[in-house]
Amino acid sequence: FNYSPAINKAIKEIEITVSQNDALFERAQKTIPGGVNSPVRAFRQVGGTPRFVTRAQGPYFWDADNKQYIDLIMSWGPMIVGHANPEVVEAVKKAAETSFSYGAPTEGEIELAERICQLMPSIEQVRMVSSGTEATMSALRLARGYTGRDLIIKFEGCYHGHADSLLVKAGSGLLTFADSTQNAPSSGGVPQDLVKHTLVLPYNDVAAIEEVFKKQGDQIAAVILEPIAGNMNLITPVPGFLECLRAQCTQHGAVLIFDEVMTGFRVALGGAQGLCGIKPDLTTLGKIVGGGMPVGAFGGKRAIMEKLAPLGPVYQAGTLSGNPVAMAAGLKTLELICAQPDFYKQLSDRTRVLTEGLTHAAHKAGIALTTNQVGGMFGYFFNDEPTITNYAEVMRSDTTRFKQFFHGMLQAGVYLAPSAFEAGFISAAHSEEDLANTTEIAEKILNKK
Ligand SMILES: *Cc1c(COP(=O)(O)O)cnc(C)c1O
Repeated sequence: FNYSPAINKAIKEIEITVSQNDALFERAQKTIPGGVNSPVRAFRQVGGTPRFVTRAQGPYFWDADNKQYIDLIMSWGPMIVGHANPEVVEAVKKAAETSFSYGAPTEGEIELAERICQLMPSIEQVRMVSSGTEATMSALRLARGYTGRDLIIKFEGCYHGHADSLLVKAGSGLLTFADSTQNAPSSGGVPQDLVKHTLVLPYNDVAAIEEVFKKQGDQIAAVILEPIAGNMNLITPVPGFLECLRAQCTQHGAVLIFDEVMTGFRVALGGAQGLCGIKPDLTTLGKIVGGGMPVGAFGGKRAIMEKLAPLGPVYQAGTLSGNPVAMAAGLKTLELICAQPDFYKQLSDRTRVLTEGLTHAAHKAGIALTTNQVGGMFGYFFNDEPTITNYAEVMRSDTTRFKQFFHGMLQAGVYLAPSAFEAGFISAAHSEEDLANTTEIAEKILNKK
């Protein structure tokens, strides 16, 4: 149509006021439940419209309105060498040119397995899968197959993907754990019959662990936990917690599973187990190990891993497991990390610029804020507890303040997790200047009353 210049100008203005994010979200909700393919992306906790990403580079991404953001989520961790890292992109391109998948073994799978075993000495053998969920689900089945027991222990506030057995939270009285009716599934569609095999304990509670092992130690197949918990914001283990778990599992013949899907290659090259010096029997990996491609892995003691098909009776398989394009992305990401001896020191220093900056900004504004930080992971709580060590304390944070802060930051071009209960992530591509700018923005937002 040939509109007059005045009408063209009016159309332009309307286009600017109607966000493309809003339009895409409208459209998405017609064919995708809630408009998203993973719930937390939907901004339900904070309200508003999710940003639809069109491209990303280094520490930044751009949304459908072509607005630039500094990304403090980095795909929830995987993009540790920055978005669209040229070397990773090149490796993926090269792999893609020789077909995406064969359903037959490739050398890339061996290379990634060797690299993982070398970086995490508790892992003697490893199997690749396509997500963190698959890794934890398979690790549980393996632990049950290995021990011939059914009971699983998990901790309140830890997330291990969405396998049925792991979508459970405890009822109130934790010492009534023997009573299966006290455990309620935290998702619809999870049978009560299955839930009775999962016991949930408070994180960092040594007495609760000792109690449950004393009562039911010979029935426990596995204890699974995030050795540094990043799915209830960020919580670190108190001294003695992991040590107690290791000792109890060894004494009672239970399999200790560290879920390092998030912490693996994120908090240190050797993961959380490298930092704490405690060896689990099995480890689950994901996120960084795939460099942004759909990858998970689980591995550990040879004696346990050899129970897996085709060697043993525990079945586990995947059409796209060890996918060559995904292996290329994961391998190159790990190579880039390993090539830089002070990678984690630098990452940790930069992350601290952010957490210290946020603390300072909140202090100046007279707002109670507690932060946690390990390697390239951070958490912040609008909470006046000096240290936050478990789910109950996390839940006492000020979510109204969080929402205001989140939206203020988003408006100003800083993309934080749209939930008060998620950790944040920094990459090697975030410069000190990026993070200093971020804290400057935070100061302005926090000072707005
Ligand atoms: C992300 C995550 C998972 C699930 O991984 P997906 O790839 O999303 O299935 C499992 N455990 C932990 C600790 C995680 O952070």
